[in-house]
Amino acid sequence: MSDKKKARFDTLAVHAGQEPDPTTGAIMPPIYQTSTYALPEMGVSKGYEYARTGNPTRTALEANLAALEGGTHARCFASGMAAVSALLMSLLSAGDHIIVSNNVYGGVYRVFETVFRRLGLDFSWVATENLANLESAFQENTRLVYAETPTNPVMSITDIKGAARIAHERGVPLVVDNTFMTPCLQRPLSLGADAVVHSTTKYLNGHSDSVGGALVTADDELDEKFAFLQNSAGAILAPFDCFLVLRGTKTLGVRMRRHETNAAQVVKFLEGHPKVGKILYPGLPSHPGHEVHKRQASGFGGMVSFELESGAAAARFLNRVKLFTLAESLGGVESLSCHPATMTHGAVPEATRNELGITDGLVRLSVGIEDPEDLVGDLERALD
Ligand code: PLP
Repeated sequence: MSDKKKARFDTLAVHAGQEPDPTTGAIMPPIYQTSTYALPEMGVSKGYEYARTGNPTRTALEANLAALEGGTHARCFASGMAAVSALLMSLLSAGDHIIVSNNVYGGVYRVFETVFRRLGLDFSWVATENLANLESAFQENTRLVYAETPTNPVMSITDIKGAARIAHERGVPLVVDNTFMTPCLQRPLSLGADAVVHSTTKYLNGHSDSVGGALVTADDELDEKFAFLQNSAGAILAPFDCFLVLRGTKTLGVRMRRHETNAAQVVKFLEGHPKVGKILYPGLPSHPGHEVHKRQASGFGGMVSFELESGAAAARFLNRVKLFTLAESLGGVESLSCHPATMTHGAVPEATRNELGITDGLVRLSVGIEDPEDLVGDLERALD
C-alpha cells in the first residue's frame, strides 16, 4: 500500500503498523518471543534493547492502534485496568483531584476508590452527561477529567467536545474510555480528548482470547509520560497477545457493523416484549443521550442493557439463555449476557448502584455476530 497515512479506516485496520517481514516476507508480524536483543556493539542497538522497554510485535500493534484512533502514539498494557492505572500513575501525584463519570466500569471504581485514594488521590464521581455538573465539580487541585461514553452498563452519553472545552479552559486534560464504541464508531481525539483508554480485551481483540489495554494520544508530552510509566512500572502486553489483538483489529470494521445490525434487531425484539422494561441503547431516539451520541459517533455499537421486573426475573432469564452465554466481559464474536449488579459492578456500593440505575433487574447483553434470528430466538425462549 503506497500511502497509509491517507488510507481509510478499514484499510488502516488491516495495514497500519505492519509491513511484510523483511527477512522472510511473512505477511503477519512475527511474535518476537524474546526478552532481550543482541547489541551490535557497546552503546548501539537496532532499536530494541530489552523487551519490557520495546518489542517489535508490540510496536506493530501500538502503531496500528494509534492510526485507528487518529493519534500518533499508543502504549499497550497487560489489561485495560493496567492501562487505566498507568494513566493515573503517569500523570498524577498525591493531593491531586480527578473528576470521573459516575458510572464507569466497576473495576475502575474499585481501583480508584481503594488503591489510588489510599495513595493520596481524590475523586469526584460526577454525572458528566450533564456538562453543568462537570463544570461545577472543578477544584483548585483538579488535574484530570476521566469519562466513559457510552458508560458500562447504563449507556450514559457524555458530550466529548463539550467536556474537552470545559477541561481545557482550566488547563486539565480529558481522557475518554472508548472501549464500547472503538475507533471504528467514535474517535475521542478528533473531538478534543487528550488521550483514549482501551480495554483491548473487548472489541479490539474481538475473540475473547486475550486480556489487554492501551493508552492512545496525539500529544508527544503525554506519550512520553505513558512510555516512561510503561517501561518503569512494566505492566506490558506480551508479544503473543499483541499478535492476537493485531489479528483482531484487521476485522474490527466488519465485526462492528455486524454487532450493530444484530443489536438493532435485538433491541427491536426487546421493545415489543411485555416483560421488558426500560431499554438502554444509545440508538433509541428515546435514549436521553441519543442526539449527542449521534453527533459524536458514527454508530451505536453492540452493547444493550435492559430492565426486567426484579433480580429474580433477571436470574431466571440469565439461567435460561443459551447463545447469550452468562459471562463477564464483552465485545467478542460470541454473544454474552451479564448481571452488572453482581458481576461487573459488584464492587460498587448498593446505594450508588441503585442511584445509577444498576438495579437488580438490569441485564447487559454483548450482542455477538451470530445469526440475528438465532439470537432473537434465544432471548424469546429465555423470556417466555
Ligand atoms: N473499561 C471498560 C469500559 C470495561 O468494560 C473494562 C472491562 O470490562 C475495562 C475498562 C477494564 O479492562 P480489562 O478487563 O481488560 O482490565
